[in-house]
Amino acid sequence: MSIGNQVLEKLKKEVNESEYNRYIKNLKYDEKSSRGDIAIFTVKNILAAKWIKTHYAKKIAHLFEVESGISPTVIIDIEKPTQTRVKNRDLQQQESRSSSTQLNPSFTFNSFVMGDSNTLAYNVALSVAQNPGEQYNPLFIYGGVGLGKTHLMQAIGNKLHYDNKKIIYTTFEQFMNRFTAHLRSKTMERFREYYRNCDVLLIDDIQFISRKEQTQEEFFHTFNELHSLGKQIVITSDRPPKKIAGLVDRLKSRFEWGMLVSINPPELETKIAIIQKKSTLNGIRLSDDVVYFLASNLGSNIREIEGTIIKLNAMSSLLRQPITIEFAKNTIADYLQEKKKSVSIESILEKVAEEFNLKPADIRSKKRAKKIVEARRISIYLARQLTQNSMPQIAVFFGMKDHSAISHAMKKIEEVIENDENLKVLIEEISNKIQANPS
Ligand code: ADP
Ligand code: MG
Repeated sequence: MSIGNQVLEKLKKEVNESEYNRYIKNLKYDEKSSRGDIAIFTVKNILAAKWIKTHYAKKIAHLFEVESGISPTVIIDIEKPTQTRVKNRDLQQQESRSSSTQLNPSFTFNSFVMGDSNTLAYNVALSVAQNPGEQYNPLFIYGGVGLGKTHLMQAIGNKLHYDNKKIIYTTFEQFMNRFTAHLRSKTMERFREYYRNCDVLLIDDIQFISRKEQTQEEFFHTFNELHSLGKQIVITSDRPPKKIAGLVDRLKSRFEWGMLVSINPPELETKIAIIQKKSTLNGIRLSDDVVYFLASNLGSNIREIEGTIIKLNAMSSLLRQPITIEFAKNTIADYLQEKKKSVSIESILEKVAEEFNLKPADIRSKKRAKKIVEARRISIYLARQLTQNSMPQIAVFFGMKDHSAISHAMKKIEEVIENDENLKVLIEEISNKIQANPS
């Protein structure tokens, strides 16, 4: 059952019968249009949609969070007449095969838009997909969040899977979690066998390897074994190997053996092409001036661009208004607000505490130990950047006198960031983690 349907099941248990029959019974989860941080549901009429939105959107977001750890923006849309789509055979075959490898079948070379920012990465990836284990091994793709690293990596996987190669796709976090679990249950043999039994190993988001010594050691052996057998390894990261804090030298040098390519933020032309492609793929019609407006006003995170387009479309059909520039402006402003609302100071505190090996209560206390003061300043800094809380609100949360104490802490940490590259990277890492998993 999809997460959306699980959420509906749970919701069913929490409303009374008459409300259920009146509103919730006809609520459907639109799995196809929903993605990561946007959950779309449909109902038959606009009244029900409005009612559910006001009374249950928060509840639904919360249930999602309980199920998946992500609290999405919930959209209640009006049901459209159903269309039956005939899929082409090849794709169907590819999809059913992909399901066994955790690959997203829509991440292909075909659906990837090329531009100056990513042509080199695209070409190298394509060449790896054509001649795995040869010229570029390992292939190391790095770049910021939402720029297409996972897409390109999985395009390689999908192509080679289709050529009957055995692919393993895993995020580094998964690799690490499995490693610890097997270590604990003394089943390391099974762990090793699993990761070494493949033709292509795709490791996504390796930056989380920072300072995890034991996992680095294990990964080093997996890497060597596969590499010496001529198996292809593809790695992605949000930064190049030399900027991954606490990465041991022998791994750093191995990552640099093969090919390092970066994906850069898309320029305006590429953004325009991507918006056009994504809207076509999602069956959304946007006028040229709206496409241009979006391309010049949205950031470079393509996942967010895609989310914005879907949200725009949903809002436009819900409110029965055409997508004009004015309409886009308002919707984007709402979207940004909601995003900020979804990060809480508590979640920041938790992540910072974890990173510094402290208790959240220590960070909130008045203790003056150097490490605690630093963790506190970083928490304050992130609370300002990622949440909607005002300085006085943050001051209250940390038990500080007033907002001037907060601006002092902000000034201090900004100074440190300027001079300490490692700390800067660490803060970015924590910030990325929080944004990937807000609560
Ligand atoms: P990353 O792994 O770099 O954070 P993803 O590969 O997950 O980013 O990409 C985020 C979203 O943006 C995906 O839906 C992906 O299909 C899309 N995307 C990114 N780059 C492109 C591109 N050049 N062309 C088409 N879609 C893209
Ligand atoms: Mg990714």
